[in-house]
Amino acid sequence: MPAPNLTRVSRFGFVNAYLVAEDDGLTLIDTAIAGSAKAILGAAERLGAPIVRIALTHSHSDHIGSLDVLARALPDAEVLISTRDARQLAGDKTPLPGEPQDAKMRGGYPGAQTQPTRLLEPGDRVGSLEVVDARGHTPGHVAFLDLRDRTLIAGDAYSSLGGLATAAKANPRFPLVKMGTWHPPTALETARALRALEPARLAVGHGAIVEAPVAAMDRAIARAAA
Ligand SMILES: [Zn+2]
Repeated sequence: MPAPNLTRVSRFGFVNAYLVAEDDGLTLIDTAIAGSAKAILGAAERLGAPIVRIALTHSHSDHIGSLDVLARALPDAEVLISTRDARQLAGDKTPLPGEPQDAKMRGGYPGAQTQPTRLLEPGDRVGSLEVVDARGHTPGHVAFLDLRDRTLIAGDAYSSLGGLATAAKANPRFPLVKMGTWHPPTALETARALRALEPARLAVGHGAIVEAPVAAMDRAIARAAA
């Protein structure tokens, strides 16, 4: 059964943003690659509601690529990102005390001119969504759990392109996500924690939405832990 509140906006089937319907308008999760603003705004127009919030799972280029253009087009929209990944968004890639100091920030972090209007911590609410700690792919990666129907928007904590996989181990058919992962052991812990939420569906940054994903998440975790 498709999620009534969730619309996937895919760019070339390769990278996704999501629109989540709320009573006061739409929450946009991620902004895809540069050049995606028109497709995202068009999808919102077809849904007949304004984008009132832009919430980011993490600060990689294929998730923040259209942030500046969208924030300019939507000057009243809130812009939300985790406190930790806001640092890379502002151009700072240095590790924090207590983080694995040998873990490298991998993948593209181009930063953005847009300043967040609110910084997120796990447990915070964004409309009907609960912010869930999903660090590992990046140090401040978050997922969003829709408390109305247990849809989990997982960003790059999982990917489904070429088969469901965690960010902790390369999927031979789609290795890109793992190539961008900051700390695989932490990404594996996150994969387990997200599975423990028993989501009804899993919406990922790369690939199709997976309905009833728990068994596939178990298999992906087993492959990553092997
Ligand atoms: Zn990423």
